[in-house]
Amino acid sequence: MTKRAFNFNAGPAALPLEVLQQAQEELVEYRGIGMSIMEISHRSKEYEAVNDETQALLRELLDIPEDYKVLLLQGGASLQFAMVPMNLLREGKVASYIQTGSWADKAIKEAKLIGEVEIAASSKDDQYTRIPDLGNLRISGNSAYVHLTSNETIGGIQFQQFPDVKGVPLVADMSSDILCRPINVKQFGLIYAGAQKNIGPAGVTVVIIHESLLQDPPAHVPVILRYDTHASNNSLYNTPPVYSIYMMNLVLKWIKRNGGLAAMEQRNREKAALIYNAIDQSGGFYRGVAAAEHRSLMNVTFRMANEELEKRFVKESEANGFVGLKGHRSVGGLRASIYNAVPYESCKALAEFMSEFQRTNG
Ligand code: PMP
Repeated sequence: MTKRAFNFNAGPAALPLEVLQQAQEELVEYRGIGMSIMEISHRSKEYEAVNDETQALLRELLDIPEDYKVLLLQGGASLQFAMVPMNLLREGKVASYIQTGSWADKAIKEAKLIGEVEIAASSKDDQYTRIPDLGNLRISGNSAYVHLTSNETIGGIQFQQFPDVKGVPLVADMSSDILCRPINVKQFGLIYAGAQKNIGPAGVTVVIIHESLLQDPPAHVPVILRYDTHASNNSLYNTPPVYSIYMMNLVLKWIKRNGGLAAMEQRNREKAALIYNAIDQSGGFYRGVAAAEHRSLMNVTFRMANEELEKRFVKESEANGFVGLKGHRSVGGLRASIYNAVPYESCKALAEFMSEFQRTNG
């Protein structure tokens, strides 16, 4: 039996064991071709089949309408922070951003280098512990798009529903919660996500874009950074990260075999409840960071009375086979990232460890 850690890493993060095992089986000789998938042309029929099937699987799982393109790009979500304004923010327009935490801030910083930015809403004054009120967004008449971060990986807050932005294209960074629940793609003009949480290993970045947003990017945008370049080349304009896309293909099939996104959401809710209950029932020994109504299903953030106790928690958790529970270096505290591939059993084990730690240190 393989000994697997209780992996709560924030990203790169846990992958399904079955996926890793299948990849291992196919590593040296991919389906009878005498080579690995990494050793053949990205224009071979075997790789084109992976490329096409991966896009089709994503369409099926997210129920992506025909008038959207699925692009498999590189450069991480960080490159999308720049590509979005480069392609969509025209002269005389303003880009509207909902400011919810560290990742939204990075997107804003990049957009400001390209053009004019307005903050449609912000929870900065609440130390990013909640999603701001979506009822009165400040969106100018000449807004090119409204950008949001559906799940703030560091703060541990998540949009529970998405705002009605009255016809302005809605752009979402879904890096840390794509595929964790069903969504209505039609609400969005563009969705992007780095792979290394719910999609697969790092290296591929998914972009889902409505066809209307592909038209006429500003003339100065380099060919490689234009969405229409990748859309018209079926994401084969240049050499794609073939192995990451192959792994993504296996992960999507794993999600499908396990009941699709509705089943993922149900399992994710059960997993998250185990840990949030451990926090809420601790009588203040553990303290959740996020406002209860905006708690993330993917990143559970919590604190203890002091940093010394938090350090001891991390140290003892590691001695008990738990990995990745230290909070992001920018905010400290503790964080359990419980993406789709993190088993229920790991979350149960963590909840039990938390109550045991409280018993011996409380
Ligand atoms: N957005 C969010 C919400 C993230 O969690 C991350 C990475 N943790 C990024 C963007 C940046 O992704 P990448 O490192 O792939 O550029």
